[in-house]
Amino acid sequence: MSQTIEIKDLHARIPEKEILKGVNLTIKTGEIHAIMGPNGTGKSTLSSVIMGNPKYEVTSGEIILNGENINDLAVDERARKGLFIAYQYPMEVPGVTNSDFVRTAMKSCGQDTSLFKFIKGYEKACKELEMPEDLAHRYLNAGFSGGEKKRNEILQMKMLKPKFAILDEIDSGLDVDALRIVGENVSNMVSDDFGCLLITHYERLLDYIKPDYVHIMINGRIVMTGGRELIKKIDQEGYSWVKKELGITIENDDEKETHVVLGACANNLK
Ligand code: ADP
Ligand code: MG
Repeated sequence: MSQTIEIKDLHARIPEKEILKGVNLTIKTGEIHAIMGPNGTGKSTLSSVIMGNPKYEVTSGEIILNGENINDLAVDERARKGLFIAYQYPMEVPGVTNSDFVRTAMKSCGQDTSLFKFIKGYEKACKELEMPEDLAHRYLNAGFSGGEKKRNEILQMKMLKPKFAILDEIDSGLDVDALRIVGENVSNMVSDDFGCLLITHYERLLDYIKPDYVHIMINGRIVMTGGRELIKKIDQEGYSWVKKELGITIENDDEKETHVVLGACANNLK
């Protein structure tokens, strides 16, 4: 039976400002959703808030997993219920090996991790992601290239077999071959038992992972939802047409700040 995660009118903030301003989104297992949007519009914040990162305060709205409100659950409790996030910037943890990290996470999710079975599964996942054989014994992401970190996130996902995965810019820093490998591995996971929220800027990844729905996020809200036709349009025309069509002006501080900094530099050069 399909499972569902529903995000209803979600508002979230850090002390300085509100970042999510009423996000609505429903994902079912078997579906792939892509979120695209300009920098600084709240995509990574949405991922973190779904996963329960305490850095963000949810001021109103609900996150409902199979009918249960999970707003008050901690990150590890959400993971046990089958949520997974691949971070935009994966952490390095010297002192903890990659395999220990995954095995501990699997144990905490109540999965069978008898050593023999685990090693077999880990080796298979490594091979499928074309990761080096000594990966298991190296420290978590320590000294990994950007692309290796991203592949390692997908490896963890393959081992943990979550119900819902949020993949935040897993394509950044990947070369063409790695992009294909990651794309195919994610795509192969999709089943009646797995749904995926994919955050990306690029059409290329979506050649391998075909989303059923494409959402555009601007200023902390999903302002448009469509099919794959939106990907091509964004790739060719950016987001200005969306803003024009919907009468939106960008509130993004980062973008404003960049303009101020560039303006100051230009003044200095005069
Ligand atoms: P996106 O992933 O769409 O590029 P983010 O969700 O990372 O955007 O960020 C949305 C906005 O909130 C940006 O202006 C960003 O700088 C700000 N922001 C997000 N998290 C934090 C934080 N922990 N501290 C300060 N600012 C933050
Ligand atoms: Mg981001």
